This record gives sequence, structure tokens and C-alpha cells, in this order.
Amino acid sequence: MRLTRYFLPVLKENPSEAQIVSHRLMLRAGMIRQQAAGIYSWLPLGFRVLRRIEQIVHEEQVRAGHIPMLMPTLQPADLWRESGRYDDYGEEMLRIRDRHKRDLLYGPTNEEMITDIFRAHVGSYKDLPLTLYHIQWKFRDEIRPRFGVMRGREFLMKDGYNFDIDQDAAIHAYNRHMVSYLRTYERMGLTAIPMRAASGPIGGDNTHEFLVLAETGESEVFYDSAILDLKLGNRVVDFDSREECEAIVREWTAPYARTDETHDEALFNAVPEARRKTSRGIEVGQIFYFGTKYSDPMKAVVVNDKGERVPVHMGSHGIGVSRLLGAIIEASHDDRGIIWPEGVTPFPVGIVNLKQGDIATDGACEALYNTLRAKGLEPLYDDRDERAGAKFATMDLIGLPWRITVGPRGLASGLVELTSRRTGQSEEMTPEAAVSRLV
Ligand code: ATP
Ligand code: MG
Ligand code: MG
Ligand code: MG
Repeated sequence: MRLTRYFLPVLKENPSEAQIVSHRLMLRAGMIRQQAAGIYSWLPLGFRVLRRIEQIVHEEQVRAGHIPMLMPTLQPADLWRESGRYDDYGEEMLRIRDRHKRDLLYGPTNEEMITDIFRAHVGSYKDLPLTLYHIQWKFRDEIRPRFGVMRGREFLMKDGYNFDIDQDAAIHAYNRHMVSYLRTYERMGLTAIPMRAASGPIGGDNTHEFLVLAETGESEVFYDSAILDLKLGNRVVDFDSREECEAIVREWTAPYARTDETHDEALFNAVPEARRKTSRGIEVGQIFYFGTKYSDPMKAVVVNDKGERVPVHMGSHGIGVSRLLGAIIEASHDDRGIIWPEGVTPFPVGIVNLKQGDIATDGACEALYNTLRAKGLEPLYDDRDERAGAKFATMDLIGLPWRITVGPRGLASGLVELTSRRTGQSEEMTPEAAVSRLV
């Protein structure tokens, strides 16, 4: 992408409405624009990152054997009357009436709708286990939308639902989700700690939240720092193996890690003092096993291997896709701007032309631009007629992990400069060497 043909409305001033760094940087880098309280347009740069995060979520869900689909944002109120949640959910639910005076709502979550789909099409244990998920916009009329996309009213969530014949099978689904989430967050360059959580309005008694440590997080968290040493990396996991998933869950849930809602001072004090940490955290996901909470009232039953009709065991599992942008920036930035982890960066590399209009410099930039594109590494080429300082400031603000700087002085000896956004270190090398470093 050439910057002169792109749409990157960078702000020079710090927007006064932004209280936290991720919100400030997303506005300054021209990633989002607020349209109403807690409702955002995703401008091209923000949209690229959102799509990359979504892609990682999809890949890891499919790897775990879960099946993508798409449910609508609007739902009939009648489904929620069946579960009893239409009246219980309260003011967070946006209620809508159509021209025929039928009650609808903008979905804050999808347990009822997925249960309805299940009961219409599945009747036998032979069709289980089944886990369906989608990535779709949600609406919750939050009392205090704030911190940009971190607490929006309209936000993008991945929500998945497992259907199993009994509790043991459903616990395997729960464990599978925990393992897939660990890998999902790791690929985004995040450390998200699974913490035992309280069940809240969705209900159920087996649940973990995933928290990213950040001072601006809304939850108070207590943990054993030993958990920070755990990494899944490229471990090959057989998601069908109950033992294997359970072993990983045991490993990650052994160190103490809880939010203020479930914190137990006595247990915490048993952790060696040097490893006892208190901090704040951002909730980027949550998994639940809730048994027959919805299948009972909504009559989602299957015939088991003895010919008996039994309610299906379910769980629901969410990832805050749009919130993740904020969480990643909170965890990865400096005074000059964002520092994207390679896994989610909007462009893998930027090209800075130090002397736009100079034939040799323009030519070298074009050649690099074309070579990188041919290798599938879409660069952002700053081809504006601007001073070097302004170009560097833009690149630092938008946080691409690598910058290639091309100028007449280096080119005289056939060299360009490759700079890491994270370390700030630069190295002179030939354009060919720079390209092979990146691929
Ligand atoms: P919170 O405690 O922050 O209000 P929640 O527990 O109500 O979140 P869940 O029902 O667990 O949210 O939804 C799954 C995920 O969706 C959350 O872990 C979070 O990452 C994300 N999420 C929830 N509410 C919002 C919101 N208002 N804006 C952006 N993301 C959200
Ligand atoms: Mg909430
Ligand atoms: Mg919560
Ligand atoms: Mg939650």
C-alpha cells in the first residue's frame, strides 16, 4: 500500500476524550472513529488489525475442531422469553420493535439462538460432540462505555457453544477451549492468564476468565508469578485427547490466579511471598460450563445410547475480538506509539523514502515495494513528499514491527537501513539482505 493512496487520518494532537493509552493511540493512528457513545467505525488501519485478530481466532478454533457459522445480530424476543432471560437481562439489552410490533433485540450473546438451532436439527447422541461458533457484532448498552473499543456498546465477539452428551464430555469441550484460547492469545503476542472466575449473569459453576495484565485493567487480579513462565509455543496438541487437554489445563490452573471476585486470601498466602503478585487485568475472554441451564427450559434433548431422552450438556466460550486491539496496545507501546506484535500487525513492514523525487531513491523504494509484495509481505510505503522526521514519527506511531529506510546517502554504497520498532536498533544492509531478513 502506498501511503499517498491510502486513508490514514493520523491526528497530531492528543485527543482529550481518551483516558487510556490504547484509546489515545488508536485515535491518533487513525484506526477508529467514534460515531456515538461506545460505537465505532473501523478505519482502514484499525480494520486490518481487527481482521488479523479475527483470522487467528478462526484458525485456532478450527484447529480445535470447532465449526464456524454465522448467526444474525437481531434476535426475536420470544427465544429469550423461553429461557427466562428476556426479563432478567435488564437495561444492558437493546430492545427493538419492528413495524408489525414484534419484539426483537440486538443480541448481547447467543445461547438461546444456538440452542434453538441445535434442538431443531440434532436429536441423537451419535451427532455429538458438536461445537459451533461465530464471530459477530454484539450490543450491550453498557452504563459506562469507555476506554474506546475496550468497553464499547457495539463490539465484536467470538462466541462458541459446545453440545455434549454428559458432563464428562462437556468438561473435555471446556478444556479444549482453554487450550485453544491459550494458543490464540500467544499468537497475538499476549500473555493472557486463565483465572478462576465467578459465574455472573450467564450462570453456571465452572468458569475461567482470561486476563491480560495492564494497569488500566478493570479487574483486580491476584496470581502466582510462576504462571508467567508457562508457554504453549508450538506444542502439538491432540484436541480429541481428553487426557492431553486435561493435562494442559491442570498445568495452567495449578498456580494461584484469581480475580477479586473469587480471591481467597488464605490460599494466596500459601504462595511463596516472592511470587505473590497483585495487579490489574483486562478480561479478553471467558469460558463457561453450565450444564443443562438452557437445554432444560428450551427442551434441547437428545436420545442417548440407551434410548433415553436427555437434555444436552452445554457451555459457552467468548473472546473479546475488538477489545483485544486495546489490550494488545496496552501491553505493547512506548512514548512514540504502538508496537505491534508480528502476529497482528496491519502491515509487516514500512518503507520510508528519505528523498521523494530523487530518481535513484524512488527506484530503490519501488523495487523493494514490488519485491516485498511479490513475497506476500504487503509493505506500507511512505511515498509522501514529507520531511524524514514526519515520516519516522508516523511509522513509530502506527507501530509496524520493521522499517526499511531508503536514502541517497546509503544507496551510494548500495545500502538501506532496517530498523526494529521494538528494540529501536538499526542495521545497514543491501535491499536483498533486508528482504531476506523479513521473509
Ligand atoms: P466485562 O466483565 O468486561 O463486562 P463480560 O464478562 O460481561 O465482560 P462476557 O459475557 O464474558 O463479557 O463476554 C466475552 C468477552 O467479550 C469478554 O471476555 C470481553 O473480552 C468481551 N466484552 C464483553 N463486554 C464487552 C464490551 N462492552 N466491549 C468490548 N468487549 C467486551
Ligand atoms: Mg459485562
Ligand atoms: Mg466479566
Ligand atoms: Mg466475562
